[in-house]
This record gives sequence, C-alpha cells and structure tokens, in this order.
Amino acid sequence: MIFKLNILLAKSAGFCFGVSKAVDTVNQLLDSGERVSTLGPIIHNPQVVAGFEDRGVGIVSSSKDTPEDTVLVIRSHGVSREVYEEIQKSGIRVCDATCPFVSKIHRIVARESLNGATVIIAGNPGHPEVTGICGHCSGASFVVSTPEDLVELAQKKLVNPSDKIIMVAQTTFNASIWEKCAKIAKKLYTNLMIFDTICNATAERQNEATELAKKSDLMVIVGGRESSNTAKLRDVCSDYCPTFLIETADELNPSMFQGVQTVGITAGASTPADIIKEVLSTMSEIISTNENEIKEAQSSVETT
Ligand code: SF4
Repeated sequence: MIFKLNILLAKSAGFCFGVSKAVDTVNQLLDSGERVSTLGPIIHNPQVVAGFEDRGVGIVSSSKDTPEDTVLVIRSHGVSREVYEEIQKSGIRVCDATCPFVSKIHRIVARESLNGATVIIAGNPGHPEVTGICGHCSGASFVVSTPEDLVELAQKKLVNPSDKIIMVAQTTFNASIWEKCAKIAKKLYTNLMIFDTICNATAERQNEATELAKKSDLMVIVGGRESSNTAKLRDVCSDYCPTFLIETADELNPSMFQGVQTVGITAGASTPADIIKEVLSTMSEIISTNENEIKEAQSSVETT
C-alpha cells in the first residue's frame, strides 16, 4: 500500500506583529551598541530568550534592578501605570515595545474606570498582560477565565449589577470561551458594555488551527510552554485530533506518526521561523528514515 504523509503548515504559524516588533526593538538596540535589559523575558520562547542572553541582554523583574547605562525594554505584554510611573521617576532610558493592541486595552479600561465603570477582564489571572491591564484600572477590576467564574462573581455579589460595568478580553483569550462569557455576562449585567479586544492575529491563528485540526490526524503545535497563545492553540486543536505541543524539533519522535496520514503544524505567536523550519525538516527526516514502518512513505508539504 502506498502511504502518503501530508504535512499541512498553517500560514499564520510564527511571530505575530507585536512579537516581531519587540524582538526587532531588542535587535536594533544591540546592533547600535546599546546594553539592553528587558522587563521580564522579552517573549515566551526560551530559545529566543537564551539567544539574547548570549548577546548580553539581561532580564530584570523590576525597573529598580536595571543596571546603569542600560536601555530597559518593555515587552509586548505591557505594564501597569504604576510601573510606567516608577520608570519615569527613576530616569532610566526606556524603549516601550508594548503591542499597540494591548495599549488600546489600557486606554479603554483607564477611560471607562475613570468614568466609574467596574472592569471585568476575561483572561488568565497572573499573566503579565492581564496584570498590566488591571494596573490601568482606577476602580474595581475582576479577572475571569471561564463562564463559571462570571456566575461565581455574580453569586458572591462582588459586582453591583446597577453599576456601570465593562468587559474586555486578554488579547490571546480563547475566542469560543470569550463568546460564552459574553453571552452569560449580558444576562447577568443588563447595562454591560463589551469590548472584544482579542487581537486579530490571535483570532485568525485559532480559526486556522481549528480548520487544520479538523482535516488532520495529528496536530503539532510549536511554541514555548509558558506561552499563553501557544497553549490556547493546543486547547482548540485537541478538541478535534491528538495534539502535541513541542518547543523544539528534538521533541519529535517516530512513534508520534504511526498510523497518521495528515499532520497539521502551527506555531505560537512567539515561535521564530527557524524553529518551525527545523521542525519541518526533522519531520521529513523521520518520515524518510522510517520507510520500514511507513512503507513507501512520501511526504508533501502544503501550506494552507
Ligand atoms: S498576539 Fe496580538 S496582541 Fe499579542 S503581541 Fe501579538 S499582535 Fe500583539
């Protein structure tokens, strides 16, 4: 029997606009001879972070720890108003690589909470982007990650339904959970204003991953284990077929492909192109070195 393994690569795999901007910012500063520190790891990809560390980039957890003669880079996740004020007071040279989509959420919550609104944020509690968004609210703010959290919030009467209430989403929030949250929140709070702040790059990536997973026997998601948007891709794909999340090509092994005819590949917004390329070439090698197991294997790489 002729067995053909199709490899389908998502068009949206790899760096999004905001991550490219952050990585380019650090590269440009280094190329111009600056010493650079980043406020937290610049992106959620250990290989990229290690590459920058090799070039002398330091990671600080607070602006107060920034060494002298260093430019501090704010990563794409953004920071709270308090951190901006702290940086301003310290006189540190700063380069702000906050993604414009995140800055837009900061402006919305700052404006609406100044006007008295309670802010509900659909996102991962503790994620740096969500912490930053909370830090731009002047009044009460609550983070929910599931529709059940919203119901609990209402049961505990933590939000007064007669108050002005707005709801925003972390840019990388799961689009289908967001829809469910929006539906329930509208029932709970009749005067709610909803701002759909999931970024286009995330929505497109999740939609494309879903479509790929529907026509694949196996999905391979390439990205950092700390990356929120990579984890979301794994979650949406695993509803349709077995799904593996790998950080690098080293994690691929032949047993993953037993009985598989079509493999879909996508990658998180913080996964560099060279890691994706390596995964593709390792996959092709695995196929060709396992001719005994996969008889007369052929591989074809398609992009969707
Ligand atoms: S995922 Fe969207 S919001 Fe986040 S950095 Fe990328 S473009 Fe910006």
